[in-house]
Amino acid sequence: MPPACPVCGQAYEPEPGFYWGAMYISFAFSTGIMLVVGLAVYYLLGDPDTWVYTSAVAIVALLFTPLSLRYSRTLMLYLFGGVRYDKRYATRQ
Ligand SMILES: [Zn+2]
Repeated sequence: MPPACPVCGQAYEPEPGFYWGAMYISFAFSTGIMLVVGLAVYYLLGDPDTWVYTSAVAIVALLFTPLSLRYSRTLMLYLFGGVRYDKRYATRQ
């Protein structure tokens, strides 16, 4: 992750340790993913063995890890970093 946005210059780490809170947001994402996958396995496969739940949850959680990481950091910046989207920068080259 670069120290600042190459387009608008927004600092990506407003203070040291800023993204510790993003860990909890990511934890919430993971919990939601695990609940959805667990319920989907239960209702679609009719309560299979434990290893099926574990494998399905682990695979889907791993697949969503890059998204979870990025969105949790983005949410952290928006919620606690004072960052707001400015569409004037989106069209700038
Ligand atoms: Zn930017």
